[in-house]
Amino acid sequence: MRHLLTTKGLDSDTAITLLDVAEDMADVADREIRKLPTLRGKTVVNLFFEDSTRTRISFEAAAKRLSADVINFSAKGSSVSKGESLKDTAQTLAAIGADGVVIRHPASGAPQVLADSGWIDAGIINAGDGTHEHPTQALLDAFTIRRRLHGKASRGKDLDGVTVTIVGDILHSRVARSNVWLLAGLGADVTLVAPPTLVPADTSGWPARVEFDLDAAVDTQPDVVMMLRIQAERMHGSFFPNSREYSRRWGLDDARFARLGTDSIVMHPGPMNRGLEISSMAADSQQSTVREQVANGVSVRMAALYLLLSGDREGTK
Ligand code: ASP
Repeated sequence: MRHLLTTKGLDSDTAITLLDVAEDMADVADREIRKLPTLRGKTVVNLFFEDSTRTRISFEAAAKRLSADVINFSAKGSSVSKGESLKDTAQTLAAIGADGVVIRHPASGAPQVLADSGWIDAGIINAGDGTHEHPTQALLDAFTIRRRLHGKASRGKDLDGVTVTIVGDILHSRVARSNVWLLAGLGADVTLVAPPTLVPADTSGWPARVEFDLDAAVDTQPDVVMMLRIQAERMHGSFFPNSREYSRRWGLDDARFARLGTDSIVMHPGPMNRGLEISSMAADSQQSTVREQVANGVSVRMAALYLLLSGDREGTK
């Protein structure tokens, strides 16, 4: 694997390999010394043009556990705020010898541009581009689901027949897009539930069904309910009357949570708007995987960095 840009087109064998390597990396986290020498001498740059807490920290921890040198670069306070282009930034990173670039960017497609540009020869990992994709989030979600279902016996398994309901702001969500492609590719049965205004205009090519009634979806007792954050920063219009109305119809509130079977797991990629898309009772319950998702994120990102940067970097995209 040369770059990790999307989950659309990631074949299920490669996805399962990534998840299995992440299991090996999770074992490292349980050791007394949580560090591997694998990427010693390699430089990983975290290039963040958009805010992030979990993803940036997680990539930093992952690279450090693999003994890579890590450079954190955020657009704020850099020459990007003086108008430096992505090309000039990339050429600067090439000049300092970056082997891997983890990029988050508000423009959909920016990581692909970097990968195709020839400005830099590093392995590129998409850490979230606009409303397009966030592949490592989907991989950590798949990893979390697989572990909840199979525990230590997860290795080699796909998600055949697992029912997953993704709820909320699908329109603006790169997490939803990456999950739809990945989870369906691994055999899961994916349903999207959202207000009609927050569903993309054309989902006919998506391997998922679209529904509008959250109560009906909860009553089917899906194995997984994944709540999405309302992406207020990407909303340049009015998509629902007000937040009370939204949480009454589309939120996983206490009543809906109580109706979910205790076998259903509740996920959220963070950051959560408690009381809007998810109640504290649901978020802090035994069924919630919110904190596991963060912990698993480090293992999954270690796996991605390892597969991209260790050894011979020639190969297919
Ligand atoms: N942290 C995720 C992302 O960057 C989800 C979110 O922000 O709602 O896409």
